[in-house]
Order: sequence, then C-alpha cells, then structure tokens
Amino acid sequence: MDEDKLLALAKRRGFFYPAFEIYGGVAGLYEYGPMGAALKANIADRWRRFYVLGEGFAEIDSPNVSPEEVFAASGHVKEFTDFSVECTKCREAFRADHLVKDIENPAALGADGLSAALKGQGAKCPSCGGELSVPQKVNLMFKTQIGPTANSRVGYLRPETAQAMFFSFVNHYRHFREQLPFGVVQVGRGFRNEISPRQGLLRQREFNMMEAEVFVHPERKTWPRFHEVADDRLRLVSNDGKEHVIAAKDAVHKGIIKNEALAYFVALTQRFLLDVGIDPKRLRFRQHLTNEMAHYASDCWDAEVELSYGWVEAVGVADRGSYDLDQHIRHSGAQLTAFERFAEANEVERDVIAPVHARLGPLFKGKAKAIAAAMESAEGLAVESDGTIKLAIDGAEVTVPPECFERKRVREKVSGRRFVPHVIEPSYGLDRILYSVMEHSYHEEEKEEYTVMRLPISVAPIKFGVFPLMAKDGLDGFAMKLDAELRDAGVVTSYDDSGSIGRRYARMDEVGTPFCVTVDHETLEKGTVTIRDRDSKAQVRVPAKELAALAPRLLRHGFSVAKGGK
Ligand code: AMP
Repeated sequence: MDEDKLLALAKRRGFFYPAFEIYGGVAGLYEYGPMGAALKANIADRWRRFYVLGEGFAEIDSPNVSPEEVFAASGHVKEFTDFSVECTKCREAFRADHLVKDIENPAALGADGLSAALKGQGAKCPSCGGELSVPQKVNLMFKTQIGPTANSRVGYLRPETAQAMFFSFVNHYRHFREQLPFGVVQVGRGFRNEISPRQGLLRQREFNMMEAEVFVHPERKTWPRFHEVADDRLRLVSNDGKEHVIAAKDAVHKGIIKNEALAYFVALTQRFLLDVGIDPKRLRFRQHLTNEMAHYASDCWDAEVELSYGWVEAVGVADRGSYDLDQHIRHSGAQLTAFERFAEANEVERDVIAPVHARLGPLFKGKAKAIAAAMESAEGLAVESDGTIKLAIDGAEVTVPPECFERKRVREKVSGRRFVPHVIEPSYGLDRILYSVMEHSYHEEEKEEYTVMRLPISVAPIKFGVFPLMAKDGLDGFAMKLDAELRDAGVVTSYDDSGSIGRRYARMDEVGTPFCVTVDHETLEKGTVTIRDRDSKAQVRVPAKELAALAPRLLRHGFSVAKGGK
C-alpha cells in the first residue's frame, strides 16, 4: 500500500503527526492526536489483559530519569551505541550500517569493517551525493544531570523500561511471596537519541514500550500454561535461514526454539498481535543471527510484521539468562537472588570471614555495621594478595585491613541455596504495533472511493457513532439523549449531526468506528433505531431503550448479536 495515504489520514483524522509542527518539527518526535492516543491506550489495555490479568504478572511504574550507575551496570553506557557518518557537504548524519549494501547484519561489522565496506561500495551521501566522514561511535542515550546545581549527578533518560524490574528484584520477589516463576511488567516511555530517525512512528527518539521480565529457575525453563498454546501454529524463520510453519510444542521438541518458557511467550506474542489486528499472513518470528544476538542471550526471536517498508521488528522475545541480575549484583553489591530449599538440610563445613567488631568500629565508624553485615552475607569472599578484602558498600568499594576480620572454619546446617534466576524478556514496541495495526486495517472501498479502518472492536478509538438523521423534529434531542446513555454505560461515542448521513458514516469508517446508531422518524413512532455495521454495512433496527444494555454485548461479540436479537 501507499504509506503516504495512511500518513495523510493519520494526520487528518488525529491519529498521529510530527510534533512541534508550528516550530518546524523535530525528527523522531511524534504526537498522538485524540484518535491515536485512544488507539494506543486501547492496545496497551489489551496487552495488560494478556500479561497482567492473563498471566497474573505485576505492573510497576518507575522513573524515566535514572542515575548513571544503572546504565553502567546494564552495559548501556559502554555498549548502547551505533556508528554515525556525516556528509562533509550538507552535514546530514546517517547510521553507517544503514548505508552498507548486501552484507547480512552490517551492524556487527565494527568501525573498521564499516569504514572498509562503505569505501569499497563507494557510498555517498543519500541526500546530496557528498563525501561521507569516517564512522564515529556514538552513544544513543539522552544524557542529563539530576539536580540543577554543580554537585548534581549524571543521569540518563532510560532507553528501555526494563531496568527497574531488575534492580528492584528483591521487592518483586517479596511481592510474589518468594516463588518462581513470576513476571513484572512496565508500560512506559523509552528514549533513544537515534542518529537519523526515519519511517515515522517506527524509529523515534521517544517512544512507547510494553515490557515483561519473567523470572524463571535456570534449570526449569518450562511454563505452567504451555499446554494452552502448545498447538498454536507459528511461522518461524530460524537462523539457519529455514522457514517452518509449526506447532509451538513441535518447535520446542525439535529444538528450534530453545526452551518451553521462551516458546510460550513467542506464542503469546502471536496471540496478542492477532488480537489487536495484525494480519496473520503478514506476521513471522525471526530468530536472531548468532552475530546479532547479545553475547549473554541464549536464544532470541523477533516478531516481524510486513509493512509497506518491508519486514519490521515489532517485538523481541529473548532468553537473557542471568545477565541483568548478575550485572546489578556486581555493580551494587545487592543480593538479587532467589532461594531454594533443599529436600533435607545438609550439614557442611565452610570457611568464613568474620568481622572483628572491636577493630571495625573505631576504623569505619558509621559504616562499620554495613561492612560487618556485608562480610557475613558475602559468599566466596576472597582475601587479596596484600591481606585485605574488598567490599562494595553503597555502590562504593571499601578496603578492609586484615586486623578487622578473622578467618574461621564453621560447621553449619544448610537448608537451601541462593541462586540468580534467569530472565525471559518479551519487549513490545507499542508505536510499531499501533502503526502496523493501522496499516493492516487500512481498507479502500473500491467503488465508493473512501477508506475503512477495519480495526478490531476492542482497540477502535470510538465504539459508536450516534446520529440524528436530521438535526430537527426532535431527532437531535433524542439522539443526544441516547449518546449520553451510552457514555454513561462506559461506551465511547461520537455524536455528529453535521452533513449528510453518508458523509457521517464515512467519517466514522475512516477512524474505524465499528457501529453507528441512527435516530430517524421511525424512532419517534416506534421507538427503534438502526445500528449499522462498519464492515458489512448491514443495518438492523433495535429498540432504542435496549441500546445501552445491548452495547457491551455488541462490543464483545460483534454485530451478529444485534442481528440475532432482532
Ligand atoms: P529493543 O530493546 O531494541 O529490542 O526494542 C524493543 C522494541 O521497541 C522493538 O521491538 C521495537 O518495536 C521498539 N523500538 C525500538 N527502537 C525504537 C524506536 N527508535 N522507535 C520506535 N520503536 C522502537
């Protein structure tokens, strides 16, 4: 399809458009108008139905601004980078890997590889044909300071919502009464200072994510409800280039998807995407290439949606192992672990490092208590070659001299062990899903020359258009009352009495409103109104006074309910 038509409709009807337009706009920043904001909220609502209601996961809400330590631990300060090249003539910047042709995953090439590929291919500025600079590595996070004064801390806008699920693991673990598996989700903004944002909502500098972090036992990557999706057929493109259309359970048995928990969330992702209106024929799951996958991930699948731009990643589902928790443990010293009880307690001997309180107190004063506690809880604490030990206290390293501790061998009963859970991460790009749903719902009526957005009822921004056939003879008053009743019943409506009835239907079709109710002269005589179905254009008459009670059933089950009820 012609994406310009969709973009024009998106702007005209208030779905989305470039932000700050009266000031010339800013690349990569978009605004959702009334229809888009409602569509976005409805898609997020459906997502919560799957992840919060369906799975029983907990939703949290953490700050967008985070101190540097968080992203030093997660690896973003070092690794969240792309290579940029700049045109020496017009100064426009581009992502270097986007200008390389015919090389699979050029993002993995590195500075020298990219430089050689661009030179070898004679790459020039796509805008003006000018010479390009050598590739420069740039970090994509928005850097800021937390606090306006000189002693402020360095901070970043989060490039993803996930970190709070990791650094607050202990709180979440407690919430779930210390039982695995469990999941924590967040719906919120991510910020990435993309080098050259293109393709509208698909690559923005501020965007919306829906992420789940699912904590599982490292040796039990199964899922209690896997049987519910076991027969779901998935279109999988594995990283050996083969395409399979296969039941989820067979994908696990054949080892195409590495474990059951990961396969469950791939299947759940498919269910969710189809539920909100993605065309099943334009959806596939592509396994990351080995040089594309993060080094700590053991398997990763992207849900890709076919759009006029080509196949686009909308969701990533990854087995991240224990990487994220390990990193925060290493950087903060916090014990982000789960506990597992042995069937029977074991008696063991072990070497411990015990604090000598009489020495610690005078030397470390206020910090002594924390140091003693850290010594007692640390496992496998090593004594350095100079006889000291090093501990992380409040994010800072503390060196403890030999006279402040003693080595002891103790016998103790061990009832269980602590371990670092593994994480399965389904990460959804809300804006990409929204755009894909719009493109897949976009339908041009052949003869009538107008557009119908065939959105699923559940995500449609407006559920009922309410019209008087004419704004006179009391029809308008009747329709307004009906409109108020529907809104009272929690149904989003749009009252419209301007222009011909055909134009009003067309306006509602264009924003995907599934039902229109019209009040006419027969309404005044017999008390009935017509309900028109967006997709079939069929109409039925129902008693006006039953409409508010009928509406929720229509929204749940579709137009057939009204037909049956006639
Ligand atoms: P990632 O953490 O890179 O796997 O991103 C998770 C999801 O966020 C992706 O599957 C995309 O749908 C979405 N996404 C990533 N970057 C952007 C962006 N710049 N603009 C809009 N959506 C994005």
